[in-house]
Amino acid sequence: MPASISIKTGTRIDMVDITSQVQKEVLNTGINDGICVVYVPHTTAGITVNEGADPAVCQDIIRKLNELVPPDDGYRHMEGNADSHIKASIMGSSVTVLVENGHLVLGTWQKIFFCEFDGPRTRKVYVKA
Ligand code: ZN
Repeated sequence: MPASISIKTGTRIDMVDITSQVQKEVLNTGINDGICVVYVPHTTAGITVNEGADPAVCQDIIRKLNELVPPDDGYRHMEGNADSHIKASIMGSSVTVLVENGHLVLGTWQKIFFCEFDGPRTRKVYVKA
């Protein structure tokens, strides 16, 4: 099994900054230069890289996702969480980040966000450098 990060989400929809945990896993691998894949093994959660400086950005993303994909819209999926699956696919299940000198290469304002769409739950994210 690849290294993994455990994340506890507190609400049904949430974006959690996991950049420092991912960085820690990269340092654990001892890899100096390469790539890091951060992968979400869940069907109702996703991952993205976006602005971490202003929390309003994540709030805007969540608001717009809820507008585009409302919780109730005559979905056929019996489990009642079709919107969570759709939002997860929109965000995607992995991101790739360059690694240089053991550190993630991210833009000044960039952070890695775990995206919960069917919480609160305890989730897992795989990290492979
Ligand atoms: Zn489902």
